[in-house]
Amino acid sequence: MSIQNGCALAAAWNYEKASQDVYFLLHAMQHKGSDGAGIAASDGHEIRLCKRLGMLSESLPLERLEELTGSAAIGQVRMACPDDIRYENLQPIMVRAHQGNFALVSCGMISNADSLRRRMEKEGLIFQGTSDAEIIAHLIQVSQGTLQEKIEKACQILKGPYVFVLMTKNTMYAIVSCQQVHPLFLAETRQGYLMASETCAFSMFGAEHVESLEAGSMVIFRKEGITRRQMDFGNAYPCSMECVYYGREDSLYAGSSIHKLRQKAGELLARDEDVEADIVIGVPDTANAAAAAFARAIHKPLELGLIKNRYIGSTFITPTREQRDSGMRVRLNAISSIVKGKRIYLVDDSIQKGSTAKRICQLLKEAGAKEVHIRIASPKIKNPCVYGVEYIEKDQLSAGMYTTEEMKELFDADSLRFLKTEDFESLLPVRSCMACMDGMYPIDTRDYKPLIQERKEV
Ligand code: SF4
Repeated sequence: MSIQNGCALAAAWNYEKASQDVYFLLHAMQHKGSDGAGIAASDGHEIRLCKRLGMLSESLPLERLEELTGSAAIGQVRMACPDDIRYENLQPIMVRAHQGNFALVSCGMISNADSLRRRMEKEGLIFQGTSDAEIIAHLIQVSQGTLQEKIEKACQILKGPYVFVLMTKNTMYAIVSCQQVHPLFLAETRQGYLMASETCAFSMFGAEHVESLEAGSMVIFRKEGITRRQMDFGNAYPCSMECVYYGREDSLYAGSSIHKLRQKAGELLARDEDVEADIVIGVPDTANAAAAAFARAIHKPLELGLIKNRYIGSTFITPTREQRDSGMRVRLNAISSIVKGKRIYLVDDSIQKGSTAKRICQLLKEAGAKEVHIRIASPKIKNPCVYGVEYIEKDQLSAGMYTTEEMKELFDADSLRFLKTEDFESLLPVRSCMACMDGMYPIDTRDYKPLIQERKEV
C-alpha cells in the first residue's frame, strides 16, 4: 500500500498575485512538511506550475514565483515517507487534457487507493508517481459529464479521509471527504477567498470570517462568487495529534486555541504528580505551553534548561519526525548552570520512537542533572496512523513495544508518566480521532489492514 504522510494545502481566489499569497499561506504551515513544495497559478488563460524538492523557503523562493501570474493559485508543502522523496510525488499535479487542463493538490490517505490503482493500470492508465493525487485526477478524467459531475462521481468511488483542491483556468473546487480527519479552512477577506489546512496561515491576511469546511462538502469558486454543495452526509473526526504536536500553537482546533489546549494538558498532567523534584523544563517548542501550565499547577519554577540554536539552517530533507527531531533537537543544549544538581521534571508533548526522549535525558544528565522525571502531555502512542498524518510502524513505536517501566529504563530516566487517555479525551472540544493512542480507528480500516498489525499486549 502506498503510504501518504502529512502535508498542508493552501489556495487563493481573486487575489492580484495569488501565487505569492499561497506562498505566504504555505510558509506559515511549513512545520507540516519540509520535503517538497509546489504552487500552481492561473491567469484565466493558462495554468503555470512550479514545484521543488526540499523546504519551501529554500527550494521555492519568492522570486521564482514571478512567472506564476494570475488571480487564482493552489499549493502544497509535503512531508514524505523515507522511501518516497521523489519529484513525481510533488504536488500540485498537472493534468493536460483536451477537455481542459487542471491542477490538483490533495491531503490524506485514500483507503482503496491500491485497488483503484491496480484497476486503472490494467485499463492502460499510466502513473508517474505514487501519490493519491494521481488516482483522484485519473478518476475524474475517466468519468463522464461536466467537471463538477466528474468530481462528484470520483468522490463516490474514493474511500477514506481525504481533502483536495482542483483548479482549472477559471474555476476552483475544494472537496472534503465524507469521513473527515484533515481540516480545510476557508477564509473570506476583503480581496477574495483563501483556504489553508491550519488557521494560523490566515493571520497576516486580516481574514474576516474563517470556517472549517464540513465533511462531505464541495465549494466551487467562479468569477461570479462561490457556491456550495453538500455531496453526502459526513462525519468528522479531526486528528487529535494536531493539539499535541502537528498544529501550530496559534492555530485553532475545532474552534479552540491549540495553545490553550496544550496548557490544559499540562494542568491535567500535573494533577497526578507524586514525585518531588526541583524545577520544570519544557522541550522546546511544542511542549512549552504544557510545561508552563504544569509548573504553575505544582508550584515549581519553570526554567529554561534547554536552549535551541535557532540560527542553523534546515536544508536537510527530513522525512520522519525522528529525523526532524534529531535535526532540530540535536541542536539543543542543556544549560549546566541551571540543571546541575537539580531534580528535573522534563515535560514533552509526546513520544513516538523514543530516541528524542533518550537523547534529551542523556543531555541533561551529562550537564549534571541529578534526576530526570519525564512527563508526557499526551497519552502513549501505540498504534500506526493510517489516515495520512504520519505513518510509523507499530514495532517502531516505543509504547507499541514496551511497558512504561521498560521505556523508563531505555531512556535512562528516573521516572516516566503519560497523560491519561481519559484526561486527554476530556480536553478535546469535539469527538476526535485518537486511534494512534487508543486503537479505536473511527474510519473503516479494512482496506488499511496490512498497515495495522496485531497489537501486542503491553
Ligand atoms: Fe491523528 Fe493519530 Fe488519528 Fe492519525 S491516528 S489521524 S495521527 S489521531
